[in-house]
Amino acid sequence: MSKNISKYLHQQMDKEAGINHVAHRTKIVATVGPACDSYDQLLALVKAGVNVFRLNFSHGSHEDKGKIIEHIRNINKTQPYNISILADLQGPKLRVGEIENNALPVVEGDILTFTNEKCVGTLEKIYVSYPNLSEDVVVGNVIMIDDGKIEVKVVEITKEKNVKVVVTLGGLISSKKGINLPDTKISLPALTEKDLIDLAFIIEQKCDWVALSFVRSVDDIILLRKKLNEKESKTKIIAKIEKPEALVNIRDIIIESDAIMIARGDLGVELPVEKIPLIQRDLIRKCIHRAKPVIVATQMMESMIDRVKPNRSEITDVANAVLEGADAVMLSGETAAGNHPTLVVETMRKIILQVEHTEYRYNREEDLKPQSHSPSFISDAVCYNACKIAHDLKADALIGMTQSGYTGFMLSSYRPKSPLFIFSKEKALINQLSLSWGVRAFYYNEEESVDDIISDQINILKERGFIEKDHVVINTGSTPVDQHLPTNMIKVTKVD
Ligand code: ATP
Ligand code: MG
Ligand code: MG
Repeated sequence: MSKNISKYLHQQMDKEAGINHVAHRTKIVATVGPACDSYDQLLALVKAGVNVFRLNFSHGSHEDKGKIIEHIRNINKTQPYNISILADLQGPKLRVGEIENNALPVVEGDILTFTNEKCVGTLEKIYVSYPNLSEDVVVGNVIMIDDGKIEVKVVEITKEKNVKVVVTLGGLISSKKGINLPDTKISLPALTEKDLIDLAFIIEQKCDWVALSFVRSVDDIILLRKKLNEKESKTKIIAKIEKPEALVNIRDIIIESDAIMIARGDLGVELPVEKIPLIQRDLIRKCIHRAKPVIVATQMMESMIDRVKPNRSEITDVANAVLEGADAVMLSGETAAGNHPTLVVETMRKIILQVEHTEYRYNREEDLKPQSHSPSFISDAVCYNACKIAHDLKADALIGMTQSGYTGFMLSSYRPKSPLFIFSKEKALINQLSLSWGVRAFYYNEEESVDDIISDQINILKERGFIEKDHVVINTGSTPVDQHLPTNMIKVTKVD
């Protein structure tokens, strides 16, 4: 490791907390499920490197989710972490129902029957959660199960409105697996009845982020925003990109959302799989340019659901997401239902660190500079130049303050080499910023003079062991303090 880079490695946590490892800057999102939902298991995942827990509302009950949320809140209260909670709405996704013994092997040539009457799925009949299925499909349509792992073709639509299909690609069907109809337009709203019930729960529980699945147009985001505003909710919105329609409207969707998830599972079923790598690259770039956090999701370490070592291709996939500058990489079944949740996180973190600690790490391209036509051009330019000064001085810390979150997301979007610390008096933001690349956030609610604020923040970081005497620190802020203007100030300090 070159000297230049080792200078920027900073410790993850206060020494007193007993955790003292180097921080990874690309964040880790882990899905919670039966394999990791106790307090001790969740804490182990956090210690291994998780920054954000994802609760998938496609699975489990509100009661389960409530318990998990309580555990995460307890971790945040008793340990020096600000773990974020990401609630993922199912959206207009079709799924099979419960499957007998949670495993139904099917082989090419088997004839299956999809019905909209509830039943436990067998070779005889499988329940599908979509009443209009028999009206929307025609003979010859392809139906895919479990992110395309199993493929069937419609052979008959019966009088009883059942859909008979022949298996063209065999595999193991288990309970609640998703179904995609790449040949068929389905007529479901962006927020289903189930989503609205889940959303009420998510708002009540004050989850930090809510993800909307199968976003098709910017109106889907506007509708969700309206529902959140009606309840004065501070929950921020993640648009899951997994439909070709979303790609057509991507500019507006990125602008209207607070973050983006590249949901490669369904995306790879809805579009030819070979398109995914470049879509991923393009989406990451667009999100960085607009300072919106971007998550790369699905099958990153899939083989570790069963095994103790990842495939070589998976290692490269995680490394590439880091090289492309993603804010976060995500684990799904690996932590929710896998055999080695903690080991997966540890392994993922090692891959991230390996890339981040080399000169090959992501550097924001020059043509992604602040735009003079942007309404926030002045503060964008201040953030950009703060990062430049930090770079020139090889600063030991870059400190920002934010009320809306904007400065936090903006400073992060330049992917500065110097450790990035964000102070805010908005409690909700402290956890929300955990999704953002490289950000460590702290609660701070003093309104003194700029000088006092800066020396306060430096002292806090010094006490917690993040900086020391003779370190060079860059602060951004805004003056006059009582006017709460967007970021308009840069200060350089040599710590004494
Ligand atoms: P999505 O399309 O929203 O990603 P998914 O079904 O693929 O839905 P993931 O969260 O991506 O779900 O993957 C987690 C896997 O873990 C699921 O496929 C499921 O089999 C399993 N699982 C079981 N119980 C849960 C749970 N309570 N929460 C999340 N996953 C669960
Ligand atoms: Mg999935
Ligand atoms: Mg999905």
